Amino acid sequence: MEDAAEFFDYQIMKPENSIPTAHDKLLFTPGPLTTSLSVKQAMLHDAGSWHYEFNAVVHQVRKQLLAVAGLSREAGYEAILLQGSGTFGMEAVFATCVPPQGKVAVMANGAYGERMVQMLRLARIDHVVLRTSEDTPNDPTALDCLLMEDPAVTHVAAVHCETTTGILNPITALGQVARRHQRSFIVDAMSTFGAVPVDFAEAGIDFLISSPNKCLEGVPGFSFVIARRAALLACEGYARSLSLDLLGQWKGFEKNAQFRFTPPTHSILALAQALCELEQEGGVAERAGRYRRNQAVLVAGMEALGFEVYLDASVQSFIITSFHCPDDPGFTFEEFYRCLSNRGFIIYPGKISQANLFRIGSIGRIFEADMRALLAAVAETLKEMQLGEAGTGA
Ligand SMILES: *Cc1c(COP(=O)(O)O)cnc(C)c1O
Repeated sequence: MEDAAEFFDYQIMKPENSIPTAHDKLLFTPGPLTTSLSVKQAMLHDAGSWHYEFNAVVHQVRKQLLAVAGLSREAGYEAILLQGSGTFGMEAVFATCVPPQGKVAVMANGAYGERMVQMLRLARIDHVVLRTSEDTPNDPTALDCLLMEDPAVTHVAAVHCETTTGILNPITALGQVARRHQRSFIVDAMSTFGAVPVDFAEAGIDFLISSPNKCLEGVPGFSFVIARRAALLACEGYARSLSLDLLGQWKGFEKNAQFRFTPPTHSILALAQALCELEQEGGVAERAGRYRRNQAVLVAGMEALGFEVYLDASVQSFIITSFHCPDDPGFTFEEFYRCLSNRGFIIYPGKISQANLFRIGSIGRIFEADMRALLAAVAETLKEMQLGEAGTGA
């Protein structure tokens, strides 16, 4: 490979002998994702962070995010943008909303649930973890028992789609349990917001965290939190951090429509465009339909090539799918990945301890035709690696 010309996407750090590509490789990942050309072009501007034209975009984006959730300010909800990736938004909710004597019950069945536990530990916030295995959804009955026995618990936190595996958790059922016990409910909807509809009122959600670079098909740079206003205002005086103080951030927007600290101007312009394109596509239901078709084509094609899906179909989301690596000793993920990358397709490694998996996402500006192109590349790669059919069935 060393002397051969390589196809390389980026202008920066380009090897001497590389051949420019017509377009970027397609990302079959959990985000950042393939975005439309128009979303990328929206970033070709220098926006003044205090300028009223930029503030108007911020205002519009906040309003549109609520609309995507089926909510509005009039209905008592607020959208707060916060610099940093999704993790920062998650950490901001804990840092802002849990009272000094508060305690959080974390529903965990993957890396993102475990990440919440780590945040709570570092913030020295009391917590308890209800774990299920990585292929099993959170258990609302176990939560019910816990809340009955432990009156100290003030908040329940859960992950909608555990992107670790692609499993979908029953957030509506969990939220109803939390509400029955009058506890606050926090949802990490990072990898679902914009494609998997959520009924805030029915699920009793107080704080939902997501990011622009997943189902909304924007680019990274900030996260956002959708909060029930009454729940947000009740957090006065709890903040454990200055930059991660969500209530402070919200007050900043209220005061002068501005971020308190330098905003990711380009990423916000990109999200404004991406939100227009979500509406053009027909909204959340239509986007869900496209992702669902993408995932169905992917699974049918991969199974025809001999690959086995890790999760049971009843708990599998249409966001990202985990596949078992072939048993064949000739298979290494690194080589498989490299071969697919050379054909213009980027997949994702596995992330769990219990099984040897890799992941393929079905979200972003990708369509059925792209899934079929990926499947053709996988078939060619199996031949190139002399693996025949993946044959992981038994
Ligand atoms: C992507 C993601 C996050 C946030 O990850 P960042 O790398 O901080 O953007 C959190 N939770 C879930 C479920 C995710 O999919």
